[in-house]
Amino acid sequence: MLNDPSKMTLVLSRVNASFADEEKDVLALEDITLSVPQGAFVSIAGPSGAGKSTLMRVILGLMPHTSGTIVRNFSRAAMVFQNYALFPWLSALENVAFGLRMQGVPRQEREHIGREKLKEVGLEHLENHYPNALSGGQRQRVGLARALAISPDLLIMDEPFSNLDTITAEALKADLLKIWRSYGMTILMVNHLIPDAVELSDNIIVMGAHPGRVEKTVPINLPRPRDVRGTQFFTHVDTLTEIIRSVS
Ligand code: ADP
Ligand code: MG
Repeated sequence: MLNDPSKMTLVLSRVNASFADEEKDVLALEDITLSVPQGAFVSIAGPSGAGKSTLMRVILGLMPHTSGTIVRNFSRAAMVFQNYALFPWLSALENVAFGLRMQGVPRQEREHIGREKLKEVGLEHLENHYPNALSGGQRQRVGLARALAISPDLLIMDEPFSNLDTITAEALKADLLKIWRSYGMTILMVNHLIPDAVELSDNIIVMGAHPGRVEKTVPINLPRPRDVRGTQFFTHVDTLTEIIRSVS
């Protein structure tokens, strides 16, 4: 079943991508082959500079690939960024509704949806706040609500917890898992924090650097909700940490 392309949100086969430098092209992604099952939570881990963010851009079609094939079995992909990427001149509600505005959804309807999504991330009381009046955790929740507003079937998140303190990140992770369940969407998350990736993921794809490549795909077959203090959990974390150390 793992090889059935119709059950996959995403299938990449032997994908290469380069950056055009002044004199020569620099290979950023080499021979990337991976698949993301529908409804799965898949994490991409690996050292800084491995091409994780580049891979997300290629998957979204924001950057061309030079060879190989990408099969995209999703209708709407939404992205959540490490640095939130909110518009500072728009309120929380206007930020969440922004994508809908771009789609031409009438004001009343997009505000209704925007409020609903703010509620899903627990921020309904802050709809009139501007980003500079929100904490990092609140900003990331607005970013998540904005992504959810377009009802994505693929949610891509690039290091969404990296700028958050541990307690804030824990709360957001718990809510994200609830949201993932209730939407039934596929989540592809770049996350270099191994315990996070083991807690959240069905599969972890480990990338190596120079050039960016897939080193290994590790299935995490632990029951959910996951016991992050259990022996099995730590065994997985150790195994993955060792793999990443060996590719760094
Ligand atoms: P990661 O997200 O895994 O840290 P990136 O995808 O950001 O890695 O970068 C992968 C490699 O591509 C790095 O060596 C980086 O310097 C290079 N790179 C990223 N963006 C560009 C760009 N716009 N032009 C040239 N090289 C880039
Ligand atoms: Mg990155």
